[in-house]
Amino acid sequence: MTNVIDGNAAAADVRAGIEDCVETLGAAGVTPRLATVLMNDQQASATYVSMKQQDCEEVGIAAEDVRIDSDAPAEELFDAVADLNARESVHGILVQDPTPEHVPDERVTSAVDPAKDVDAFHPENVGRLVADRPRFRPCTPHGIQRLLANAGVDLDGADVVVVGRSKIVGKPLANMLAGRGDGGNATVTLCHSHTDDLAAHTRRADVVVAAAGVTELIDGSMLSEGCVVVDVGINRVDETNEKGYRLVGDVDFESAKQKASAITPVPGGVGPMTRAMLLYNTVKAASEQTGVDVDLP
Ligand code: NDP
Repeated sequence: MTNVIDGNAAAADVRAGIEDCVETLGAAGVTPRLATVLMNDQQASATYVSMKQQDCEEVGIAAEDVRIDSDAPAEELFDAVADLNARESVHGILVQDPTPEHVPDERVTSAVDPAKDVDAFHPENVGRLVADRPRFRPCTPHGIQRLLANAGVDLDGADVVVVGRSKIVGKPLANMLAGRGDGGNATVTLCHSHTDDLAAHTRRADVVVAAAGVTELIDGSMLSEGCVVVDVGINRVDETNEKGYRLVGDVDFESAKQKASAITPVPGGVGPMTRAMLLYNTVKAASEQTGVDVDLP
């Protein structure tokens, strides 16, 4: 029997723990606060922001929704971030990706105070992660690490193949799984669009993480018997339903399930954990900035 890893249940556990932390902070007079900054006109980004706002409200984190016209001068965004950096009552700041072309991405990630950088994209936080001294773990890789731990996957010495080398998923995840200590100690291969013979890598892996953004890139024929599969991809495929589409991952679920001992579904796998780990980072930020200890889940 293949274990279909339930990301919704795992996320609900984390959220329950976060609610306890919020209560502890509240008793000490601290309301954790996350500010999201949106500077683009894409419907998907607006939806992501409102989901994050709603997630915060559900666990008692105050959420602030900063919106900037996409054609405003770049300085408007940087002034808004500087203002949030300076405000003691704001503990976490997140600038929703993407920003317009005239607002350089590198400047955005460097603008957020590293202590409030709940996405963990600031170069200081990236460096700390690589140095095995993380302040924040980026949300998606952290969620994946938790899902693997919950499923009882022993990563120590395991052969892990991560497909995708983005700054937000593949690269930090590869670092975390290869790092020292709990949830690490794996032997990690990082594949990308220039990798020769992807299947040769995935076929020998104990754990395959697919984060390429390519619909059903990996199928059962590319996997070894009994491997663990984590599907990060969220891709829209046209469908004649109410929405006009359905979501599929980077893995062909049905054929992969025939081979895998455990697999995350799309939706309901990595996605809910990504959202939960943002709440985790926000509460961690509030705790560290105020000196109020919490028992993080
Ligand atoms: P990016 O587009 O930033 O990166 C994709 C990576 O995949 C790149 O490194 C690219 O290689 C590699 N790649 C693309 N095609 C292939 C291929 N045919 N073979 C091997 N490697 C390939 O994507 P993200 O990391 O931001 O996101 C990946 C997917 O995960 C998307 O579907 C996204 O929607 C989803 N996602 C889901 C989240 C969740 O919570 N579930 C959170 C974040 C993302 P190269 O570097 O050479 O271009």
